[in-house]
Amino acid sequence: MTKYKLEYLWLDGYTPTPNLRGKTQIKEFDSFPTLEQLPMWGFDGSSTKQAEGGSSDCMLKPVRHFPDSTRKNGILVMCEVMMPDGVTPHASNKRATIIDDDNTWFGFEQEYFFYKDGRPLGFPTAGYPAPQGPYYCGAGYSNVGSIARQIVEEHLDLCLDAGINHEGINAEVAKGQWEFQIFGKGSKKAADEMWVARYLLQRLCEKYEIDVEYHCKPLGDTDWNGSGMHANFSTEHLRTVGGKEYFEKLMAAFKDNIADHIAVYGPDNHMRLTGKHETAAIDQFSYGIADRGASIRVPHSFANNGYKGYLEDRRPNSQGDPYQIASQILKTIASVQMEASMSEAAA
Ligand code: ADP
Ligand code: MN
Ligand code: MN
Ligand code: MN
Repeated sequence: MTKYKLEYLWLDGYTPTPNLRGKTQIKEFDSFPTLEQLPMWGFDGSSTKQAEGGSSDCMLKPVRHFPDSTRKNGILVMCEVMMPDGVTPHASNKRATIIDDDNTWFGFEQEYFFYKDGRPLGFPTAGYPAPQGPYYCGAGYSNVGSIARQIVEEHLDLCLDAGINHEGINAEVAKGQWEFQIFGKGSKKAADEMWVARYLLQRLCEKYEIDVEYHCKPLGDTDWNGSGMHANFSTEHLRTVGGKEYFEKLMAAFKDNIADHIAVYGPDNHMRLTGKHETAAIDQFSYGIADRGASIRVPHSFANNGYKGYLEDRRPNSQGDPYQIASQILKTIASVQMEASMSEAAA
């Protein structure tokens, strides 16, 4: 028997942006346990805005687990928060009710800033560093500093060791700003891995005394880019059938549902989606081939391949909840399929 350190992770009840919480319990297993072997566990919901003081127990239901290479015999256990009965999802548990489909693939591009002493890492005590230009995918101490790259590299290894589908990293447009990408087949798979990757980054940064700033526009109304979490998506139909006619119907459905998308694309997005800094205005919908100023960017490969492949919704921001973002995209896609099957039935 081996004693495993199980880090149970969950999203708390803070709005508009939940925080990741985690606590450890030790359990003995013959070998690395299956998900089904991991027991439910409780926590004090009154400390996480998930219960009133009087009756404060909430339950943690393991839904996915990953090896944690930073700890001897460590396991990261992503959980859903349940009511004390253990079967009713808590109101803060969005994952329980989202639309999921293994054949819809998501690639999230998480942008964020490193923060130290209340400003982006590498910013001078007063004023600003040299304007944006050399930082994006940059190299050299003046452009990217020293610690930042070390953290980013360590984070990449932590994710790969955990079996997370990490797809890449790059230094971003603003100084102190970086990006990593996570890919997954299905809303829950992609979003679980994004939340755990966010957790690993925050935990890693503790020892460097650096914070991760996920706000979408931490430098406000200045000439510094904000942070997005572009959502790239493809259904089986988009990958294998596609076509211009279907694509245009799909874009019309996105246009009809601007408000539903923006509602789950992350808080304070009006600060970021201004029409400047590679964004489209928040109240408009546009799409364009290779257009980084559009709501949805159509990759060259998509247009050149008979309107087949994946699309990039550029509106979700760095604090968005990937569960709800993926689910809303699926909902809009499903509305088009429904319309098509209804008109077939009528014909
Ligand atoms: P850019 O910065 O040019 O927008 P990135 O290379 O950072 O692009 O991100 C591209 C994203 O697209 C990655 O997250 C990748 O996983 C995702 N992606 C690639 N192919 C597909 C696909 N078929 N379906 C969904 N996502 C995809
Ligand atoms: Mn990118
Ligand atoms: Mn980017
Ligand atoms: Mn992108």
